[in-house]
Amino acid sequence: MQQSIITLDLEGVLVPEIWIAFAEKTGITELRRTTREEPDYDVLMQGRLAILDQHGLKLPDIQEVIATLSPMEGAKAFLDELRSLTQVIILSDTFGEFAQPLMRQLGWPTIFCHHLECDSSGRIVNYKLRQPNQKQKAVSAFKSLNYKVIAAGDSFNDTTMLGEADKGFFFHAPASIRAQFPHFQAFDRYEDLLVAMKAEL
Ligand SMILES: [Mg+2]
Repeated sequence: MQQSIITLDLEGVLVPEIWIAFAEKTGITELRRTTREEPDYDVLMQGRLAILDQHGLKLPDIQEVIATLSPMEGAKAFLDELRSLTQVIILSDTFGEFAQPLMRQLGWPTIFCHHLECDSSGRIVNYKLRQPNQKQKAVSAFKSLNYKVIAAGDSFNDTTMLGEADKGFFFHAPASIRAQFPHFQAFDRYEDLLVAMKAEL
């Protein structure tokens, strides 16, 4: 039987949306903007970095705030159970430096994401996408290694990953997104996603 591997989105699936939670914790409401308000990702990110600069927030300050966030209730147990069954890779469009305080709370699972460029003072000077469309490319690469890929995500930036996977599920996806991609089965509770994923292993 073919071996399986599971790929999971991070934000919205295991942890809250980091920028939104950060905006709430710090009260910097301009940081709530997402790709829904600003579809050009580079414009959005340069704007976010400028706002961080205006507030004098360097990477360690940001990580301190992110460390006060928690994974969603039940996320760690869900992930631990999956990792006891097969290999799990988190595919995220966040930055490793932001994910780190949450990865600690999740027991350091494997994550493939992007990274930030900082100067020696910790000021974030730029961001680096490792490669465009990295989620789909990772799934495609795992398939080339003869893995059956089972994936779950919550949003538009997951749909190419879910489509490339042998089996793709929505988890916590808004109704509007589910409606546009009705062929992906959708779940809202970890126990239900767990049952569906186990059935594919
Ligand atoms: Mg997400």
